[in-house]
Amino acid sequence: MDVATREDEDLLLDLLNTTPVVDGEHTDELADLAAGRAWAAARGGAGSAGEVATLRRVRAAIQDVVRGAADAQTLAEYVERIALRPRLRDGAVGWELRTPADETLAARALLAWAAIGERAPGRLRPCANPECCRFLHDRSNANTARWCSMALCGNRFKARRHYQRTRGTDSGRA
Ligand SMILES: [Zn+2]
Repeated sequence: MDVATREDEDLLLDLLNTTPVVDGEHTDELADLAAGRAWAAARGGAGSAGEVATLRRVRAAIQDVVRGAADAQTLAEYVERIALRPRLRDGAVGWELRTPADETLAARALLAWAAIGERAPGRLRPCANPECCRFLHDRSNANTARWCSMALCGNRFKARRHYQRTRGTDSGRA
């Protein structure tokens, strides 16, 4: 298995976005054990209870770091559990995860976080909508994306700004 692939980056973003605010309520797609196990299994995980617990801990830690609420060093305890073994295949050395099965998804997410930070710092960031709590990974050349998605937040935010402008107030809340 190659590490820090595009698939791993998508897994990382999926994981960070399992705690969105929906209709003003903080939600957690991994809070329910059955739902959390299904989430993990659907992404190639073991689908075990321990795996869900690990994912929730690692998720919270990475979210804090991406939000700037914690130093990256707080991830050391998770990163240092990851074991990689070099494999020579077709004349090239690749890296294979040798982490326990129920820590594999968390390890993939952590390695993706590290790879994005090294290759493209700042491109993984919180959605600009403070009431959203999702994240985005901006792969555009311009690197100016502000919203987790235009459909979820961009359009809504613009509509609200327009509404506030036309009413001549900025105190209204949608
Ligand atoms: Zn958003």
